[in-house]
Amino acid sequence: MEICPVCLIRHKEVTVIPYDYRNYYIINCPRCGKYRISGSKYDLFTKDSENISELDRAKYSYLIKQNQKTENNEVFNINNINIDEYKLPGIEEQSDNLIRWIGKNIDTLDGHKQIESLLLTSEIGAKNINGVNYLVKFLQENNEIDSIDITQQLSINEKDDGFILSKTDILSLGLKPKGWVRFEKLKKCRSMEMKSFKNAKPNDEDYCYEYDVAISFAGTEREYAEQLATLIEDKGYKVFYDKFFEGKLWGEDLIEYFHEIYGKNSRYCVIFVSEEYNKRMWTNHERKSAQERALKERGKTYILPIKVDDSELPGMPSTIKYLLLSDHSIEDIAIILLEKLKTSI
Ligand SMILES: [Zn+2]
Repeated sequence: MEICPVCLIRHKEVTVIPYDYRNYYIINCPRCGKYRISGSKYDLFTKDSENISELDRAKYSYLIKQNQKTENNEVFNINNINIDEYKLPGIEEQSDNLIRWIGKNIDTLDGHKQIESLLLTSEIGAKNINGVNYLVKFLQENNEIDSIDITQQLSINEKDDGFILSKTDILSLGLKPKGWVRFEKLKKCRSMEMKSFKNAKPNDEDYCYEYDVAISFAGTEREYAEQLATLIEDKGYKVFYDKFFEGKLWGEDLIEYFHEIYGKNSRYCVIFVSEEYNKRMWTNHERKSAQERALKERGKTYILPIKVDDSELPGMPSTIKYLLLSDHSIEDIAIILLEKLKTSI
């Protein structure tokens, strides 16, 4: 039975295949996934296992799992990773990971999926089994997931010097209605899916947004707003433009709802700044939510202002770059915005 040098499990499904290129191995581990490691690093990871802490092993394991889908199907190489640059995700992101995993693995609304809790560690980014159990309990108390019979199965494992009997924790997990709502929301998030194609750093703040762009404008600029929204949406991005969402807005408490959109759920906020914009109650409310967010995320571009006339946006530093509608057509602005969206994912 082979051992996975990263997480050190001995499991009948672990395979270690020598790979010619510069004395590498390709490891396939049911917990971490598939990855490449050099012979010398393999030795370092296995010979003196105390060399690497449990936390660092968990970080490697999570990173490998996140990079299972790489461009041109190359097997993820962990050799030159500086693990100090990575962090395990916090409880919110771990919760998202677990809910996403359950949602993907069950077929029916009340279905359950069984899994060894040890194998879940790398799926969600927990340090160890205790971390998994803690998260399961947390989401159960939150009424988002359902976990039934946590059974312990006995299994016989072969060791170098004979056989050992070991216990395996098995979890049976399902989603409650509240969890389904979260899963559906997560499915819409493109950024998390895209992340797995890159060398994702679990500690980057690239959180998952419901919309790529939210457009804030006064009625007088509706024509421009609609044109921009349509151009961006045609390229496959999610745009919040009120007319696209009339059905969704019906009956909502709009103050609360818009606060969520302009203050949290969008990657960028485009504002058409005009005399009319500064006068209206609604647009002022949207502007305040957006500025609150911009203040919280200092240093990160969030508000993208477009000047329709000479009006200034209250509370906006004069150093912020505006685009002038007198200089740029909406088509030009759409091209600039699409460039921004591409580089920010
Ligand atoms: Zn492993």
